[in-house]
Amino acid sequence: MAKVLIKNGKVVSATGVVDNDVLIDGERIAAVGAPGWFAGAEPGCDKVIDARGKYVIPGGVDVHTHMELPFGGTFASDTFETGTRAAAWGGVTTIVDMAVQRYGENVHEGLAEWHRKAADQCAVDYAFHQIIGGVDEESLKAMKYLVDHEGVTNFKLFMAYPGVFYSDDGQILRAMQTAAECGAMIMMHAENGIAIDVLVQQALARRETDPRYHSYTRPSPLEAEATHRAIVLSHVAGNVPLYIVHMSAGDALNEVAAARHHGRNVFAETCPQYLWLTLEETLGQPGFEGAKWVCSTPVRSRDHDPHHIGQMGHGHQGDLWKGLRMNELAVVSTDHCPFCFKDQKELGLGDFSKIPNGIGGVEHRMELIYQGVVAGELSLERWVETCCTTPARMFGMYPQKGVIAPGSDADVVVWDPNTTTKIGINDKHHMNMDHSAWEGWVIDGKVDTVLSRGSVLIENDQYHGRKGHGRYIKRGLSQYLV
Ligand SMILES: [Zn+2]
Ligand SMILES: [Zn+2]
Repeated sequence: MAKVLIKNGKVVSATGVVDNDVLIDGERIAAVGAPGWFAGAEPGCDKVIDARGKYVIPGGVDVHTHMELPFGGTFASDTFETGTRAAAWGGVTTIVDMAVQRYGENVHEGLAEWHRKAADQCAVDYAFHQIIGGVDEESLKAMKYLVDHEGVTNFKLFMAYPGVFYSDDGQILRAMQTAAECGAMIMMHAENGIAIDVLVQQALARRETDPRYHSYTRPSPLEAEATHRAIVLSHVAGNVPLYIVHMSAGDALNEVAAARHHGRNVFAETCPQYLWLTLEETLGQPGFEGAKWVCSTPVRSRDHDPHHIGQMGHGHQGDLWKGLRMNELAVVSTDHCPFCFKDQKELGLGDFSKIPNGIGGVEHRMELIYQGVVAGELSLERWVETCCTTPARMFGMYPQKGVIAPGSDADVVVWDPNTTTKIGINDKHHMNMDHSAWEGWVIDGKVDTVLSRGSVLIENDQYHGRKGHGRYIKRGLSQYLV
């Protein structure tokens, strides 16, 4: 087994930045020691990485991706092969993808299909959440089985997309009760899909068909209302742990903050698109260009939604950054769900409701949140905490993942803060899509070297990984609960 020494770097963890050397033996971290501590071992190492002037951080953990997701008559354009390769380029060494059960389908078959898609394809380690799109006796039974036997310990429900993934309040309550019985966590897509569908039909009847109406028909109060309702239902179901996905709005965040203030097991994530992109600059662009930024929840207005201006005094983005600092938002994921512009986003020409929902981002999360450090929005430690450590703990993978410590998997990223990264189709772009939601963005810092279980995936701007290296991770229960 290969021995690797990473020396002279600044090791960043959720709790501090320390000058330390890291010794890797095979697939695991063997030891972390003061600079020079392993000088005696250096001649016996197969590889020595000099990280002077650079940060050494745990590999990124992206707990919300959708490789090959069927949506709106097409499929998300990244396969597990292309998507996990792009993840590696972005310093992400673990993904948790969403296996799908739609209404009328069997949960076990849905999970088996996801295993088939991912097996022998992944460049980095992977795990699954299970979407439950049809709550009934059979799927409730399956939930218990998945927790006990499959290492799938949480379930995503939808309050949106009637007829596809939607669960009504009674179904949500039943699934939550089942989750409470087996210690599992519920992930919630919190938007009032019934009301949204009415607004969508009314907009289309007025011939309001451009992409920007995707956001106008999903106003933030309908995210806040659904978030509140999910929190109430989770309380009634026995204080089942609840995790709100892809939070985009300040008013929704307030609901989570209030629940957390009351000591509830309520958590939330946001994504780079909600922290950085605004309706005005992206989705709101004239013509069909905005289709590139159609995702749900939608990117929000720079201020709060027009009919709610003044409600809280500053914009959604300011609220979300504050939420990240305050731990009202525990995690940054990507909701990576790429679609090409040609032939995929174009399905919604003349009807925004037919534009496949999703943005590709698995490659850029570490970069974009590091930019938040540079901008003074959060600390280096909090960057690592929200992108690496907490995702691993939240979803039962810690300390195998999310930390640089003896015994942990040797998933390590060397991060160079002394240079920049330009994102764009002809610059840094490895996702399988024909455009980038981040075209032209120049980010401070750069993914320098990436190791997954001791194997070098990225070094000197070269990809050294291989498909099939990534292994399936059976996850335990969330480690945030007492
Ligand atoms: Zn969702
Ligand atoms: Zn999603």
